[in-house]
Amino acid sequence: MSHIPHLINGERIAGQGRSADVFNPSTGQAIHQVALADRATVQQAIDAAQAAFPAWRNTPPAKRAQVMFRFKQLLEQHKDAIVQLISEEHGKTLEDAAGELQRGIENVEYACGAPELLKGEYSRNVGPNIDAWSDQQPLGVVAGITPFNFPAMVPLWMYPLAIACGNCFILKPSERDPSSALYIADLLNQAGLPKGVLNVVHGDKDAVDALLEAPEIKAVSFVGSTPIAEYIYAEGTKRGKRVQALGGAKNHAVLMPDADLDNAVSSLMGAAYGSCGERCMAISVAVCVGDQIADALVAKLVPQIQALKVGAGTSCGLDMGPLVTRQHLDKVSGYVEDGVRAGAELVVDGRGLSVAGHEDGFFLGGCLFDGVTPDMRIYREEIFGPVLCIVRVDSLEAAMQLINAHEYGNGTCIFTRDGEAARLFCDEIEVGMVGVNVPLPVPVAYHSFGGWKRSLFGDLHAYGPDGVRFYTRRKAITQRWPQRASHEAAQFAFPSNG
Ligand code: NAD
Repeated sequence: MSHIPHLINGERIAGQGRSADVFNPSTGQAIHQVALADRATVQQAIDAAQAAFPAWRNTPPAKRAQVMFRFKQLLEQHKDAIVQLISEEHGKTLEDAAGELQRGIENVEYACGAPELLKGEYSRNVGPNIDAWSDQQPLGVVAGITPFNFPAMVPLWMYPLAIACGNCFILKPSERDPSSALYIADLLNQAGLPKGVLNVVHGDKDAVDALLEAPEIKAVSFVGSTPIAEYIYAEGTKRGKRVQALGGAKNHAVLMPDADLDNAVSSLMGAAYGSCGERCMAISVAVCVGDQIADALVAKLVPQIQALKVGAGTSCGLDMGPLVTRQHLDKVSGYVEDGVRAGAELVVDGRGLSVAGHEDGFFLGGCLFDGVTPDMRIYREEIFGPVLCIVRVDSLEAAMQLINAHEYGNGTCIFTRDGEAARLFCDEIEVGMVGVNVPLPVPVAYHSFGGWKRSLFGDLHAYGPDGVRFYTRRKAITQRWPQRASHEAAQFAFPSNG
């Protein structure tokens, strides 16, 4: 078993003290040990980032962007190795890992626009001979804490843009699948990033708490489950930090009676079972408007769920790999049992799946529940597994009420041919990311990503234009150069153009 080190000040540093097993979920075997940073190690990373900040802050944005251009090239050159690492530790299929990486690279491309993004705003003659401008200055040292389910993409949502904006960064990746984040961070250093601008510390709550408590950390970006997001937001803001904390989800797809059913079924299959449902934008509830569409949907879904190709993520041509850990498999299986106990109809039961040659892997086949009601735990809570729940309602209004009443508001979509219904849905649904006949409306890198309600704590969404706002602070400068030989008397009235 190899040991996964930290990356501090451009050097790989072996951890001391505690460590954790990293598993290959397809085999069920521990394959690495990851260091779990203590406070002293976190402080070492903070000190390196602090030391790098003055020079990096003053590096021209165009030079910072050049590093990002080289980084993008390296990511593309090393794509196969990264995809392999993601799949090996997370379990997702190679094709899915490649998609994740590509979406991450798109955020690097956006960060390449730093000179344009940071241009600021200028107004000449806001008063007599007075000019004013707004500058977007970096914050200093900022931290990112990321989840297991997108081990490459979510870190890439954060630090390319933060760094292109002139900040120094400390990444604390998920301890469950940390290798791809470390590998990618090495590539950014190879692209010419000065030492200390990006540091990676592995760890668990201890490392996170050390980051939250450090006065040198000016902002924290978090992506993970809602209870931890809420904790990070409360602890960070209490200490005066800027925090964006993205949490969990329960994403509903509404099927209108006029939906193009075959396309909706294909969309739902990918959105519910892709990545084994371990996506914060996964569709986990299908709300059918009317029994007719519900019955037709179930009839079409059942054979497709039963035919899902499930196997070791690193094999080719699969639909689904394993879940990430044994504990998570037990948790998701527990939800399936709970749904049965609560009276939902388990139409397809994926439990007990064994994959030949991988009998110890953390596999669960696709599951489908019909007759789910809003009081059930399988409806209320995020399962984060390959479990789709069907809820039947009799109108679009009832479907929207259901979604608007849910504590989460990350993503949603509607399948319909009716433009009026779609427009009403987009307008009035209380969810941050909405798709119309698009099941996973994950915004592209030049928009921003974020949910509403208990899916996001903070004001600004992740990456894109909101990312620039989050990683910079505005300074408004008003400047006058008095004309020679002119002298103005003191003015005691508040200055204005009146
Ligand atoms: P998690 O909350 O368990 O872990 C996220 C991060 O927080 C990890 O780095 C982990 O080490 C750290 N952490 C865990 N427990 C902690 C504690 N007690 N104190 C401090 N830090 C702690 O989430 P996960 O299981 O890795 O990821 C899955 C969750 O992330 C799901 O709920 C999913 O919906 C969510 N997610 C949300 C988005 C989004 O954009 N909204 C994107 C991806 C994942």
